[in-house]
Amino acid sequence: MRILIIEDEQELLQDIAKGLTLKGYAVDGANDGQVGCQMALDEAYDLIVLDLNLPGMDGFTILKEVRQEQPQTKVLILTANSELDSKLSGFELGASDYLTKPFHFAELEARIRVLLNRQFIQRANCLTYEGISLNTLSRTLQIKEEPVELTAKELAILEYFLLNQ
Ligand code: CA
Repeated sequence: MRILIIEDEQELLQDIAKGLTLKGYAVDGANDGQVGCQMALDEAYDLIVLDLNLPGMDGFTILKEVRQEQPQTKVLILTANSELDSKLSGFELGASDYLTKPFHFAELEARIRVLLNRQFIQRANCLTYEGISLNTLSRTLQIKEEPVELTAKELAILEYFLLNQ
């Protein structure tokens, strides 16, 4: 499993890289947004750990670019910003998960493990709960087999709840 970390705090980047390498992941790192984005587009990473506030290019722009070119790549956003709004914009742009700084490495590692396993469990790309069925690829929702229209933000919130039942 290949992981790219884009984080401009050198010490944090090194700590995460070291920890994940010990857990058996192949890890690359970038401390500049533009460099990191180029690496993400050139290589097929299984997961990207992405800081939002970066020199060169901000995390949301990177997320948008990566989503267009590499839809399979999981993106876990790291941010000092715990505001709900920025979380929701991240989910709308296709972030797979969020972690607010400061965090414990064990939590980051656990979330990464869940995200990478989820890839195999959710082969059908369908999240379900009772009569609710959300297709995360086509972004369509059915309730009791009837199609239901939601806004992008509503879908993002529902997806978050289905992923965190
Ligand atoms: Ca930063």
